[in-house]
Amino acid sequence: MKSEIDIEEENKDIVRRYKALLRSCNSEITREDKKLIRKAFNLSVDAHKNVRRKSGEPYIFHPIAVAQIVAKDIGLDATSIACALLHDVVEDSEYTLNDIEKAFNPKIRKIINGLTKISGFSEQDISSQAENFRKMLLTISDDVRVILIKLADRLHNMQTLDSMPRLKQQKIGSETLYIYAPLAHRLGLYSIKTELEDLGLKYTEPEMYKDIARQLNETKKARIQYIQRFTKPLKKSLKEHNLNFSIKGRPKSIFSIRKKMKNQGITFDQVYDKFAIRIILNSELNNEKPDCWETYSVITDHFRPNPDRLRDWISTPKANGYESLHTTVMGPGGKWVEVQIRTERMDEIAEKGYAAHWKYKQTGKYKEGNLEDWINQIRELLKDPESNAIDFLEEFKLNLFSKEIFVFTPNGDLRTLPKGSSALDFAFDIHSQLGANCLGCKVNGKIIPLSHKLKSGDQVEVISSEKQKPKKSWLNFVVTAKAKNKIKSSLKDEKKMIANDGKEILQRKLKHIKLPFNDQIITELINYFKYKTSLDLFYDVGIGVLNNTMIKEFAKNRNSWYLFLKNKIYKRPSTKNDDHDNTKYNTLVFGANQEKLNYSFSKCCSPIPGDDVFGFTTIREGIKVHRRDCPNAIRLQSNFAYRILESTWIDNTSKKSDVVLHIKGIDRVGLVNEVTQILSNNLKVNIKSININSSDGTFDGMITILVTDKQYLKKVIDSIKKVDGITSVRRKFKSG
Ligand code: MN
Repeated sequence: MKSEIDIEEENKDIVRRYKALLRSCNSEITREDKKLIRKAFNLSVDAHKNVRRKSGEPYIFHPIAVAQIVAKDIGLDATSIACALLHDVVEDSEYTLNDIEKAFNPKIRKIINGLTKISGFSEQDISSQAENFRKMLLTISDDVRVILIKLADRLHNMQTLDSMPRLKQQKIGSETLYIYAPLAHRLGLYSIKTELEDLGLKYTEPEMYKDIARQLNETKKARIQYIQRFTKPLKKSLKEHNLNFSIKGRPKSIFSIRKKMKNQGITFDQVYDKFAIRIILNSELNNEKPDCWETYSVITDHFRPNPDRLRDWISTPKANGYESLHTTVMGPGGKWVEVQIRTERMDEIAEKGYAAHWKYKQTGKYKEGNLEDWINQIRELLKDPESNAIDFLEEFKLNLFSKEIFVFTPNGDLRTLPKGSSALDFAFDIHSQLGANCLGCKVNGKIIPLSHKLKSGDQVEVISSEKQKPKKSWLNFVVTAKAKNKIKSSLKDEKKMIANDGKEILQRKLKHIKLPFNDQIITELINYFKYKTSLDLFYDVGIGVLNNTMIKEFAKNRNSWYLFLKNKIYKRPSTKNDDHDNTKYNTLVFGANQEKLNYSFSKCCSPIPGDDVFGFTTIREGIKVHRRDCPNAIRLQSNFAYRILESTWIDNTSKKSDVVLHIKGIDRVGLVNEVTQILSNNLKVNIKSININSSDGTFDGMITILVTDKQYLKKVIDSIKKVDGITSVRRKFKSG
């Protein structure tokens, strides 16, 4: 049986909470301020009387808690505290905005109006989400207190989310991660941001959250021991330097550990920086910088720093006011340890954002800034360009999610996409089948082309048809990996089907002109029409690009072409080029067949003849030639391997000649294979024939290869000589 609620006890509790609120107000608070807060409290108590939260608590607990966050964690003024107390009054009771204005003043009315407008972010019907967010942002320019109180409201709602149904927890949790935590971050409210993130994770990925929390707990003892081992020598040295300090070893937030695991694809155990050491110095204002660097110097006397991970936000503080010196050093046991060095003043600013600025202004220790200044700064930061909400949102997004945009489904669900995503990316993001069948999209009610680039705040509706299939041209404007892969694999399937048809067509056509359908003819066709694979060949036949006339032409030329090749093969090597110089090697040929193609040199690395180079097929400018050591080479080669063309410098005055090499050596398993590997893979030499005889553990072989010049031949010979077991390599002059 539930026990009866003790109203008297509850009222005492309300008063206790109210007094705690007053205690957490700024010490400079005036009697007028106190009167204002008292009045707001009384009105709020009356408005919410007899109302309870889902948890069963009196409703008034909530506005008091929000006001407490506003006062203590954010450090706002009495007006803000009063507004926090009143923030749900108009929304949830008989009181109107006019009543508020009558009881207080127009300014408070305006703030409450803003808060009422954006409240019920998730309670309202679907599809109002986008509109609501827009409203919220527009309100910022009115009075930024609205946003700050809203953040406090959200934090308390997150702290008490347990009593909500699962579905709501999920929804409110993801909103918090998408909108409120980044907002708190931008405003420099670090502890609020961290708490919002952890709570957001707790309700969006409860299993993951619990798992990390459990593991953090299990490793706590070892971590504390390690921190002690790390800090012991530091404490001693810092004391010797007469530095006044305290050292904290703080575990990183569950959210940030989760982020690391996700981004780097690692397990909990592999996250090396699960905690950070923080050294907080008690310094005079004008000694802050030297003290911090002296501390840095002491640390690096004991532990080797990682030069890539030094961050100096003391010389240049972050835009939101964050100041600190970060370094990562190699601690005992070969573990990287992050150390944050800062003064007490910096630490408070880092944790509380403005609240600390305010405090230091009051004590005269910190001169710059006051509440109004700061609010103006944020207003600047989140500047509203007149009336265009979308532009404003774009601007806002730039600050918050520099690489992401967030758009809405017709139902008002939020989707995050990389910047530059098109409407088609959105369709694929929702479902791959929806993407594949995507016929068109509506953005904010207007029909737009599939290639349309989306902006934050867009509401996107996909129009689909089962008859629609992915097109090759789609690849030109999708940016997400999911869309690209789905389109490619669908095209590949399509290509295979067409190629199968093409193969049958080709078979009939060849039969018609009395040519057999066999590997040799297929290879000849591939070479003649310059295809890369038989699939490409069959596909072009399938779609009719390679037609009857062309195949007949091939058949006609086939004989003379074949003879031409034969001629080339049996031509005697030129022996006059013995003393030729490198400058003749000024022409590039591409691919294993050493085709002559048009090309130009890239500007980024300006290759010269003789450089080790490769060709890169560009969309607009044909083949661009880069040096192998070009700064862009690795990126191009790894991302666009299929567009890379092997290239070779040739002497354009000489033609390729075949050379017979006589190779002798001691036979062993895999030797022949190794030689041919070196020739065809490493040196890209065309091997015409190989003839090897082995007996009594020795082997004797002839290899016929195609080379352009003597220098290259020398390189080939030298490489073969290096193979284990080879005793001699000689060029053999054929007699005929
Ligand atoms: Mn509320």
